[in-house]
Amino acid sequence: MAEKLTLEVVSPYGAAFKDEVDEVVAPGTEGEFGVLPGHVPFITTLKIGVLVYKKDGKPGYIFVNSGYAEVYEDKVLVLADSAEKAEDIDVERAKAALKRAEERLQKKEDIDFARAQAALQRALTRLKTVELAGKK
Ligand code: ATP
Repeated sequence: MAEKLTLEVVSPYGAAFKDEVDEVVAPGTEGEFGVLPGHVPFITTLKIGVLVYKKDGKPGYIFVNSGYAEVYEDKVLVLADSAEKAEDIDVERAKAALKRAEERLQKKEDIDFARAQAALQRALTRLKTVELAGKK
């Protein structure tokens, strides 16, 4: 049985993360799921959320914006619409995106509500990812 997992996170913007880890907890659309080495292979969809991995007992945090996860016995491959490690997140940019989304959602005129909600969710989750990483 595999002892380590290769965690790889990619998006159309490029590779966000690749390393050998011990454990992964990812935000599936049906709820969070955990993967240890030797897991039964499966594929699932992801929602906007924070992926947490453990390496040598220490947690790491990655923002994932929807997409898919392919789970193999010795690998978790995440194909996200966008993704960043906590340390790659630009906090000021996320705060600006949050403000824009909040302002848009407050307008009475016609807006694409789902799109504005998703932008809000991305910004909030990026900020949460940074916050979690700060609490290590
Ligand atoms: P923004 O409105 O600031 O562009 P967004 O949520 O619309 O945010 P995405 O569509 O998710 O952005 O991502 C577009 C690209 O910008 C991706 O490469 C993503 O990694 C990057 N990106 C977006 N926001 C941030 C951030 N706060 N820090 C670092 N990279 C970011």
